[in-house]
Amino acid sequence: MVIVLNTGAAMPEIGLGTWKSPKGQVAEAVKVAIDTGYRHIDGAYIYENEKEVGEGIHQKIKEGVVKREDLFIVSKLWCTFHAKDKVKEACCKTLTDLNLDYLDLYLIHWPMGFKGMEALVDNRMVKAIGLSNFNEEQIGRILNKPNLKHKPAVNQIECHPYLTQEDLISYCHSNGIVVTAYSPLGSPDRPWAKNDDPSLLEEPTLQNIARSHGKTAAQVLIRFQIQRGLVVIPKSVTKSRIQENFQVLDFELTDEEMETILSFNKNWRYCPMHWCVGHKDYPFKH
Ligand code: NDP
Repeated sequence: MVIVLNTGAAMPEIGLGTWKSPKGQVAEAVKVAIDTGYRHIDGAYIYENEKEVGEGIHQKIKEGVVKREDLFIVSKLWCTFHAKDKVKEACCKTLTDLNLDYLDLYLIHWPMGFKGMEALVDNRMVKAIGLSNFNEEQIGRILNKPNLKHKPAVNQIECHPYLTQEDLISYCHSNGIVVTAYSPLGSPDRPWAKNDDPSLLEEPTLQNIARSHGKTAAQVLIRFQIQRGLVVIPKSVTKSRIQENFQVLDFELTDEEMETILSFNKNWRYCPMHWCVGHKDYPFKH
């Protein structure tokens, strides 16, 4: 299952997340994912594991399981590389670590800076560029740039039933921008988790819906996003979960179940980036 980007490229709807995936486990997770059928891997320079992600990818290419062109590899520009002349350097570092000639999609990890991104498409280092954590106003600023040459193809945002993001999704879709949902399972391994934070996977109504389909809560959370037309990137380093998270195409949530799940929204962010609240470009003010 793929979603077509405004560049014409096909982006697989389910990708493997790799934030927090330890160096000693992530190569194996990537290999298991590719064997399971995943063709999209979501990474970033700041996850400090791109070398190992690359090892997993290359092992499967070497074994003949996939070719490079079968895969959709995503990485992200970290905030210390926003200056125009630093963008290429950052992208080169990621390509070197992954041991790849090009990325399928390169995102600006946090909404500061776009200068230098378009040149990466011109240099064929990346096939598409996109955004992450941009709010509507910030996307608008990019789209309204007078000499915009390469439109952003994707906005990757936190999205799950406690943060349904309906307005931002409809704004992106109406502007031809695909939305990728990150932390789709509620990011239970986020480092700043507190005991009294709401736990999405333990939501009783969600568990009931899952039970009625003979599925797990995680599978319902992933299916929910697919039925909304989103790309979704659950992270796991556990073989059985990587497989489980991909088994979501053999059932369908009813309209009523979709409405019920949407009604869980409480604008709750698992990744509020609270240490940047005072920054002028902090995206989550509304
Ligand atoms: P997720 O919502 O994907 O949750 C990951 C956690 O859920 C891990 O602890 C994992 O455990 C566990 N898990 C995975 N599958 C299951 C399952 N079937 N049943 C129960 N538990 C499960 O969190 P992330 O925050 O990691 O988000 C996913 C990805 O999105 C990231 O890895 C990253 O690639 C991207 N992201 C992007 C951001 C951005 O700023 N652009 C910010 C945050 C995330 P285990 O691994 O031990 O199996």
